[in-house]
Amino acid sequence: MTRHVVIAGYGMVGARLAEEIRRRDGRRVRLTVIGAEPYPAYNRILLSSLLSGGFEESRVLTHDAGWAFRHRVDLRLGVRVEGIDADARKIELSDGSVLPYDDLVLATGSVPRLPSVQGLDGEGVSAFRDLDDCRRIRSLADVSVAVLGGGVLGVEVACALAERGVRVTVVHPAAVPMDRQLDAAGGSVVASMLSRLGVGLCFGRRATGWRPGDGLLLDDGELLPADALVVTAGVVPETALARAASVEVNVGVVVDDRLATSRPGIFAIGDCAEFQGAVPGLVQPGWDQAEVLADLLTGADPGARYVGTPSVTRLKAHGIDLVSLGSFTGGEELSFCDARRGRYARLSLDGDKVVGAAILGLPDAGAAITQHFVRGTPAPSDRMGFLLGRALPPEGVAAGGPSRLPAAAEICRCNRVTKRQLVHAWQSGARTVERLATATRATTGCGSCVDAVDGICSWLAAADTSPDSSADAELAG
Ligand SMILES: Cc1cc2nc3c(=O)[nH]c(=O)nc-3n(C[C@H](O)[C@H](O)[C@H](O)COP(=O)(O)OP(=O)(O)OC[C@H]3O[C@@H](n4cnc5c(N)ncnc54)[C@H](O)[C@@H]3O)c2cc1C
Repeated sequence: MTRHVVIAGYGMVGARLAEEIRRRDGRRVRLTVIGAEPYPAYNRILLSSLLSGGFEESRVLTHDAGWAFRHRVDLRLGVRVEGIDADARKIELSDGSVLPYDDLVLATGSVPRLPSVQGLDGEGVSAFRDLDDCRRIRSLADVSVAVLGGGVLGVEVACALAERGVRVTVVHPAAVPMDRQLDAAGGSVVASMLSRLGVGLCFGRRATGWRPGDGLLLDDGELLPADALVVTAGVVPETALARAASVEVNVGVVVDDRLATSRPGIFAIGDCAEFQGAVPGLVQPGWDQAEVLADLLTGADPGARYVGTPSVTRLKAHGIDLVSLGSFTGGEELSFCDARRGRYARLSLDGDKVVGAAILGLPDAGAAITQHFVRGTPAPSDRMGFLLGRALPPEGVAAGGPSRLPAAAEICRCNRVTKRQLVHAWQSGARTVERLATATRATTGCGSCVDAVDGICSWLAAADTSPDSSADAELAG
């Protein structure tokens, strides 16, 4: 019997769920996706890189215009789900239509949090959440911009604008940027790097009002002159639909390990969902949830359960290589700071397990520590070498070159793609980074593995012309 699955939200997680369902299901699921934005699915996390001007807009699109037709998805763009009748299993859409469903998945994401600062509804103010915001901010030229909020997103936006030659100042209430990820020492290193990029810093100050045409008023009465304001003060899960349908909501829509909400037939995944009290606001948990839910909705694995996702945050800004993971609650703590060279590392261990880390300017250490954290494998006993990225056999491409990487090394963490999968895809005919991306999904997450995949591509191309191909040998073994 055919089931009608309706996904409310065609963002990074709703789009991924649709893909995962179609990967598993031939004919049994009738699939409808409702997307409030008028665009085909795109990679939201690449918007800060798009803002810096690094590439064309088409590169952030994850689905082309024909995707829905090819995959038998009834895709309705620029349409909102306005209401849910959970008893009758029907939804109301903004175009006036009413749609029955068997299973409804809320993938409505989150919306920018607007702090209580006067005038934020005035001219010249923009959030930074979607493609329209990005286009608006990209069009700013020859102006001065204030960025309200110095968290990860605020730092990314400031760096991107500075790279475009825009005068930019970050206003942040804490003494250092990214204080949720970094302590005072690490935050100071990032602050120095921002200064070197030409970003103005206004830390330890609160904004009180926005005056269009003048600038941003600060809590000590000073006016920071600015033509435009970009608000990057966090996000709030989009839960209005769920609340109105009497679905249990805490901060996010509360779900169990089957991603089920408190009302039968309604599920929630991604930024809008709260699992075990956490609303991570990162894409990886949403993609993991999409896999589990696709298993359940298609019947591919009725026993699938979501068990949580280790939290890893990466900063995507030119010249600042930062990874932050877990939390600093362990018993053993190590740290290192070389502020002049922009290097900083802090590691927290519980026994031999990595429970928290913030690594700046040490990419090999960042990659190795992340792998131990995600896999739960014991940290090496040479703690200082581990902290600085020197204790391990080469895990990072930079450390040993692709040929020395083990076949099981995870190259794209967002999509869990190993070197072995890339080599297989290459041997099946995917001979460019773009084709490898289509075949394996590598590089289609945060994009930080593009150089690594490119390196593997070049190595495989060279190996192809060599009589003694290490790629073949490795796969055979
Ligand atoms: C600039 C930027 C950089 C980021 N960088 C990272 C990063 O490096 N790593 C990371 O893990 N995360 C990052 N994030 C966060 C990441 O983008 C989110 O975690 C991810 O997009 C969540 O996916 P989602 O589908 O749950 O929500 P979204 O991607 O927000 O999609 C939700 C969609 O639902 C639509 N919608 C809402 N309500 C309705 C309705 N009633 N009817 C129909 N449609 C509706 C919305 O319009 C939206 O299109 C970043 C976010 C931004 C903005």
